[in-house]
Amino acid sequence: MRIGFGYDSHRFVEGRKLIIGGVEIPFEKGLEGHSDADLLCHAITDAVLGALGMGDIGRHFPDTDSRWKDAVSMDLLKYVVEMAQMNGYRVAWLDTTIIVERPKLAPYIEAMKDAFSQAGLLPAAINIKAKTNEGMGFIGRGEGMAAFAVCLLEKI
Ligand code: MG
Repeated sequence: MRIGFGYDSHRFVEGRKLIIGGVEIPFEKGLEGHSDADLLCHAITDAVLGALGMGDIGRHFPDTDSRWKDAVSMDLLKYVVEMAQMNGYRVAWLDTTIIVERPKLAPYIEAMKDAFSQAGLLPAAINIKAKTNEGMGFIGRGEGMAAFAVCLLEKI
């Protein structure tokens, strides 16, 4: 068994879609980023890479590389899940927390879990929690949002 941890944050900007966990969420702003800025996918990708001992998302998908411009983050996660399999591991469990003041994400959590099947993950092996930051800091001011993920890998 191997354990890994991931964190990501992105800034809210006008004129972009808000995509979290592969689900487009209706909101007046989206997240700024080189890719689709799906921070839950990014946190999980870093957690899987952490459990593999293979660095981080920036090492595998540098934002200076035009190949990853507007990349679908679910595809990057799928690539890393496949890397885990090639190294003899499967994702046994993911626990995640998203921190955002607005919008409320609770209505979209089941859809997010289902969307992760696109990356070869089992919805039954993923927990997604969403909470506010009680009005404090950059999240509280609505400037951006953050996500945390813990991943457990099991030998195949
Ligand atoms: Mg990111």
